[in-house]
Amino acid sequence: MAEETRPDSARRASELRATIDRANELYYREDAPELSDADYDRLMRELQELEDAHPELRSADSPTQRVGAAPSGALTEVHHRTPMLSLGNAFGIDELRAFDGRVRRGLGLDADEAAAGLRYVAELKIDGLAIALRYERGRFIQGATRGDGTTGEDVTPNLRTIAAIPDRLTAPVDVDVRGEVYMPKAEFARINAEREEAGLAFYANPRNSGAGSLRQIDPAVTASRRLSAWFYTLVDEAAVGPTSQSAALARLEELGLPVEPNRASGLDIDGVVGFVEQWQEPRHHLPYETDGVVIKVDAFDLQRRLGMVSRAPRWAIAYKFPPEQVETVVEDIVPYVGRTGTLTPVAHMKAVKVAGSTVTRATLHNLDEVRRKDIRIGDHVVLQKAGDVIPEVVGPIVARRTGAEREFEMPAGCPICDTPIVRDEGAVRHYCPNLACPARVAQEFGHFAGRGGMDIEGAGWMVVSQLIERGMIKARGDLFRLSVADLESLDRFARKSAENLKAAIDRARVRPLARILNALGIPQVGEQTAIDLANWIAETWPPRDDEPMGGVDGWLARVAAELTATPAERFEEVMGIGPNVAASLGRYFSEPATSGILADLVDAGVEPARPAPRARSNSDGPLAGKSIVITGSLEGFDRQGAEEAVRIAGGKASGSISRKTDYLVAGENAGSKLAKAQDLGVRVLDEAAFRRLLAGEDIDG
Ligand code: NAD
Repeated sequence: MAEETRPDSARRASELRATIDRANELYYREDAPELSDADYDRLMRELQELEDAHPELRSADSPTQRVGAAPSGALTEVHHRTPMLSLGNAFGIDELRAFDGRVRRGLGLDADEAAAGLRYVAELKIDGLAIALRYERGRFIQGATRGDGTTGEDVTPNLRTIAAIPDRLTAPVDVDVRGEVYMPKAEFARINAEREEAGLAFYANPRNSGAGSLRQIDPAVTASRRLSAWFYTLVDEAAVGPTSQSAALARLEELGLPVEPNRASGLDIDGVVGFVEQWQEPRHHLPYETDGVVIKVDAFDLQRRLGMVSRAPRWAIAYKFPPEQVETVVEDIVPYVGRTGTLTPVAHMKAVKVAGSTVTRATLHNLDEVRRKDIRIGDHVVLQKAGDVIPEVVGPIVARRTGAEREFEMPAGCPICDTPIVRDEGAVRHYCPNLACPARVAQEFGHFAGRGGMDIEGAGWMVVSQLIERGMIKARGDLFRLSVADLESLDRFARKSAENLKAAIDRARVRPLARILNALGIPQVGEQTAIDLANWIAETWPPRDDEPMGGVDGWLARVAAELTATPAERFEEVMGIGPNVAASLGRYFSEPATSGILADLVDAGVEPARPAPRARSNSDGPLAGKSIVITGSLEGFDRQGAEEAVRIAGGKASGSISRKTDYLVAGENAGSKLAKAQDLGVRVLDEAAFRRLLAGEDIDG
């Protein structure tokens, strides 16, 4: 029998390894998983069981033996002095009790003895990105990601932008601490709403958007996302003294580090089970996502006696909450008009409770997505929440169809103003092109004043819509022209609150150019593109030393005039911008209405902050005078990293290829640019040759 099963098992094991390796790559390095965590966990469990049954199938490079993924190469590497491990998983109460059994056997304790001395700590498992921080003499020195457990990525400047992470501890100690950086649910929802409106790919969950936000070359990107952190490990326990996990948590708090408050210690296994059950539902109401409970043997001496297996300690386990999926019925699919006119199909569903709240609506993103999932009006569907926040229709239950279901179609005219709906060539979104569409105007103003935009504290949706309704703001600049008396006349405003809002408005006048651009709500431009565009502008038309940033003779006015006259194709020079977005920018800036908007902002006193000088380009560098285009994905660089490397080497990184291009660097999945380079006879380099070029080596040898 065994002889017969072996080839099958071997085949299945290698299949599983390949699938899991690919999922790891997408999850850890690209922060863009395609599998759900529950599906991933199932595959991993199957592989583990296969390897347990056939130990000869277990290879050192199996994903069951490894932690995470090695650094991507875009950031500097950091070696962890003590490895950062993963955790074993428990998928039910039985498995928790089995863990307790293993711990007792490992320690040689029977139930009574265990009852006397064995205590557990239960902590919520924060679904974020593990980080390791080094403090010396109480000062934050270095921070890194987990990476493959041995080597992580240096993200020190990015971590410094996170308010929850103290720069100084309350005592001048040398200590290594570990914890989790996470994206609050509200921030995840905000960013995804913005990405949806801009027609960008959605983040699957706060974990991945948090990880993506932290693992950035440019700390400004991290700073623009409101990340936070919790700490749960004190590595140098000898130096500071605690002898148990519960004491270590207290010590972390004492040192001024944030520690998640919903924890319990002194538990036996029944207590652990009680804790897990107690958090099943309320966890949905926390402002951050938890995907389970981590249970740890409290006493460090017992932890040391238990030791570890290949990738996880024997003294701890992660209980994973089951994913919550429910069934409901799509009663209608209704297109909503957003800030840039994008029509988003929204499923109206029979009310159903999922992950802690009652849900009646879920965005279906766009028509392609409705078709891809084949969701029809009248369908029974499976519903879950992405990242515990955003209701997501997983798919229809085809077996329950009666034939009465109807396909959704985009309307020919805008549901609000009846202007014919447009879909640009090659783009996924349909939109109402009427800039004066009332639905667009209200949302544009909300976005302009909101967090992704000029970030006027206190100018929320309620305030902005009142101002519009009362005719107090007609153009965006009018927001900056409001007086305390104007604001005091609003519902629920008094002198003090009006003064506070006025002060917030005054503070919001000066913002980085990227924010001002993002605030405009340009179609297909999200936060990242706004940053790329702002960098390009600062390089193309740098502010002069004696030039004021605002006012009719200032930099903003000059940039506005330049942008208005820039042909669409030229925007392809901006790194990361393709022909579609370039066309959208060209169209936007050439609209007469846009010049009016920009002139109004200049008049209202809006000013970009002076851009920080960027890393100097090296005019004697190996790429001096060369124009380089990068396409496809490179192993060792992300887009900004590659651009930065070219610039530092004295070259010019461009987004569009022409006869003047010296080299095209083509990574994996290079597309039309590669074909165009070949057409134009532009020299094509692979990543290895690109690296040699950067290092000043001869690439012809
Ligand atoms: P894990 O997430 O199951 O557990 C280990 C991690 O938990 C630690 O590294 C730490 O970051 C975190 N953690 C949070 N709170 C903690 C606390 N209080 N104490 C200690 N640790 C705490 O293991 P992993 O190795 O990081 O990742 C595996 C998991 O990642 C999978 O189970 C799956 O959920 C997910 N994953 C998903 C995919 C996918 O394609 N969907 C791919 C790879 C991994």
